[in-house]
Amino acid sequence: MATTESVSLMDKIVSLAKRRGFVFPSSEIYGGLANSYEYGPLGVELKKNIQDEWWNAFVRQRSDMVGLDSSIILHPKVWEASGHVAGFADAMVDCKNCKTRMRADHLIEEYFESKGEKVSVEGKSPAELERLIKDNKIPCPVCSKHDWTPVRKFNLLFETNIGIVPEAQSKVYLRGETAQGIFVSFKNILDSTRLSLPFGVGQLGKVFRNEITKGNFIFRTLEFEQGEIEYFFDPAVDDWQKLFESWKKNIWEFATNNLNVRAENLRWREHSDEERSFYSKRTEDLEYKFPFGFKELWGLAYRTDYDLQQHTKYSGIDLSYLDPVSGRKFIPHVIEPSVGINRLMAMVMLDSYREEGDRVVLQLKPGLAPYKAAVFPLLANKPQLVEVAQGIYRDLKKEMTVAWDDRGNIGKRYYAQDEIGTPYCVTVDFDSLENKDVTVRDRDTMKQDRVPIKELSRYIKEAVRPNSLH
Ligand code: ATP
Repeated sequence: MATTESVSLMDKIVSLAKRRGFVFPSSEIYGGLANSYEYGPLGVELKKNIQDEWWNAFVRQRSDMVGLDSSIILHPKVWEASGHVAGFADAMVDCKNCKTRMRADHLIEEYFESKGEKVSVEGKSPAELERLIKDNKIPCPVCSKHDWTPVRKFNLLFETNIGIVPEAQSKVYLRGETAQGIFVSFKNILDSTRLSLPFGVGQLGKVFRNEITKGNFIFRTLEFEQGEIEYFFDPAVDDWQKLFESWKKNIWEFATNNLNVRAENLRWREHSDEERSFYSKRTEDLEYKFPFGFKELWGLAYRTDYDLQQHTKYSGIDLSYLDPVSGRKFIPHVIEPSVGINRLMAMVMLDSYREEGDRVVLQLKPGLAPYKAAVFPLLANKPQLVEVAQGIYRDLKKEMTVAWDDRGNIGKRYYAQDEIGTPYCVTVDFDSLENKDVTVRDRDTMKQDRVPIKELSRYIKEAVRPNSLH
């Protein structure tokens, strides 16, 4: 059960996100669109910093990884081969009284959770879910009536058409995950590089899912940025359990070090046999303690050779790998770490939020902060101060994201920057004109340092350089 304190933390984050320009409800002037959000001037920076962190840590800084940017609209057969057309589905149910539409598994889970009980609904058929709802007389969480439609499956893939006339032949799908783009480019990647097993391909990009569950901010949205890796290996040479463990370690490190999230709010959960896809030998989720409970943040699955076998079968193109040393030909196996960047962003905002007296601070890792520094002239009506401060602002802006503020008293300006996670505030005062130095105030310690203007850029960059480069 979510506590009152944690529920209000979510409310605080949602309100801060809107007030300060991190995340806005989508299309708000038209009444909004469920499960859609806009990333405002600060949100787009924070999201991009998390993406860059992911890309640097998992693609650029590793010699066994390369990147890919495949299409959002792929050949429709891709999704037949992958099993998404037939099986990428959730079960839904509608309240006949108030028309609330819900995922049947969520309805059941939330009902039992509210009673302090746990129930496993993974892998259950629509008929089994319907029985659970009926037998337990589960009421609608909105109107409290128990009058449900039958449970029906619906596909999460968004459909669209190529061309102006919608016909069966022109039907295509917006990708529901980035992974399939990697599998269908596998041969081209092999042919165009000198990669040998084991190696991985990473991809970051938008994916689309027809989600009907409402709420929980940017945790679950219709479109989101996904970061996926397919790590290919030879099962006769590499021990999959060891590889799996090393990916678990990499993911944990990324969350706790690169994103600076508190370890006590994270845990691994292994999927049970009924929950796991039939082709997967092992699946574990890294879960974060969101205000609405521990929920999946990052999936890690050993998918065997299932996907490349399927695409070999459906395309008629041999997707096997020829071992240059032994001359053996085989279809590689894969381990797949998969995460939603937006979900990471929700976690980072929740985890870094602090209230210290009347001060609100987003204690973001400095490299993730939307602005690395803010520059203030002590007084806005003193042109000498403004001129020097503007010069510093312009110079710093060539190297990092910087905010400018000359309104209100300095204390208020500090607080406004604390709330959005700016690690350093730089103030130009009258001594600056004499001594060619400035006051640099640290967000976390609130300590002030005097720093020569010509050393300022190095001083800030040293402290905020991307985490993974430390
Ligand atoms: P869930 O059970 O929460 O629906 P899933 O098991 O369907 O997630 P995967 O298909 O394993 O999720 O996707 C990998 C990752 O993508 C998830 O761990 C999550 O971080 C992210 N993700 C999935 N669906 C969404 C969504 N609708 N909005 C934002 N992120 C998502």
